[in-house]
Amino acid sequence: TERALIARREKVLGPAYRLFYEKPLHLVRGEGVFLYDVAGEKYLDAYNNVASLGHCHPRVVEAITKQTAILNTHTRYLHEGIVDYAETLTATFPEALSQAMFTCTGSEANDLAVRIARHVTGGTGIIATELAYHGLTSAVAEFSPSLGESVTLGPHVRTVPAPDSYRHSPEEVMEKFGRDVSAAIADLKRHGIKPAMLITDTIFSSDGIFAGPKGFLKPAVDAIHQAGGLFIADEVQPGFGRTGETMWGFERHGVSPDMVTIGKPMGNGYPMAGIVLRPEVIAEFGPRARYFNTFGGNPIAAAAGKAVLDTIRIEGLQQNALEVGRYLMDGLRNLSHPAIGDVRGSGLFIGVEIIDDPATKRPDSALTTRIVNGLRDRRILISASGPNANILKIRPPLVFSRENADMLLDALGDVLKTA
Ligand code: PMP
Repeated sequence: TERALIARREKVLGPAYRLFYEKPLHLVRGEGVFLYDVAGEKYLDAYNNVASLGHCHPRVVEAITKQTAILNTHTRYLHEGIVDYAETLTATFPEALSQAMFTCTGSEANDLAVRIARHVTGGTGIIATELAYHGLTSAVAEFSPSLGESVTLGPHVRTVPAPDSYRHSPEEVMEKFGRDVSAAIADLKRHGIKPAMLITDTIFSSDGIFAGPKGFLKPAVDAIHQAGGLFIADEVQPGFGRTGETMWGFERHGVSPDMVTIGKPMGNGYPMAGIVLRPEVIAEFGPRARYFNTFGGNPIAAAAGKAVLDTIRIEGLQQNALEVGRYLMDGLRNLSHPAIGDVRGSGLFIGVEIIDDPATKRPDSALTTRIVNGLRDRRILISASGPNANILKIRPPLVFSRENADMLLDALGDVLKTA
């Protein structure tokens, strides 16, 4: 039946829809940190940052179910839910970031951010990192080089290397990123292109899960501001308490974004995303500041989003991410295996760089694939990331416990013995 379902899927969805694993997982149910396949096998989810509160969290299920039965409509009628939610959301940000706009996906949020940045600055130039992924719309794909050959970077786009804290010293990273961004700004100007924005993840994801050193973003943000552009922090992955230390990744760097784009865990699976921004930015949009999104910020989304923020607070999930994240990172380092070149990250956003030789730090993509598959055989789900797909990506729901971390560590220890 599995093979038949895959064949049906391929026929009707086409080749662009890739599945994880050679032997794909056929999931039927999720609860907490566990996912269940069609045969009733139970998997520990150490990858999913959407179901950040755990799969099918009862508080979110209840909020969505209740609101679905009462009212759903778009944002051109007055409804209280969106105001309640926007107030609760912006209260988690520094005071300057006091307004919110809602979309359904992170891609739309970044797309809207570009449009606003261009209107406000009068520029078109965009600076992003070399392997960034910011989304799928045509405008955003132009500065999402991780999409590879399927996109052409726009002529107004410049990319800079993400800060590689494994191959450069903290001092070098601190200085290099700002210098690279300044050089990109200078190059745009040389080509007569006015810079509109710098956009970065605040823990780099597809670039290789680089989280530090803290503060390295500051010189780059200063440079784009001096050039008249805006800084957009893409918090689609690190946001909502995942870093453990702070609610938002940019706060770890002491920088003030002009816009922050958010998504993924925002509705714990209910599709919602948005921008939190400085009121001055949108004010400059002036009479042109029209925005409508049929589904974005509807009463069900607002109810789901509110339940997510309440749960993060009530269950102390940011603190849990900090504590379990530290425990897990210590455990990963203590595995002391020569193939583990680096363990990095913050909170429950962790990268483990797999190499074939500590002296050369050469990436070992083949071993990484064997580890990911070996863990799957032991019913644990993670993924791989980075330019050479040699970085284990560990990004579990924030309710991950020490016991769950031990399950992962034991299994990884086992797999490393034989892989
Ligand atoms: N930004 C980042 C950093 C992301 O990881 C993603 C999704 N992987 C997006 C934006 C786009 O979000 P969505 O898939 O909801 O459009």
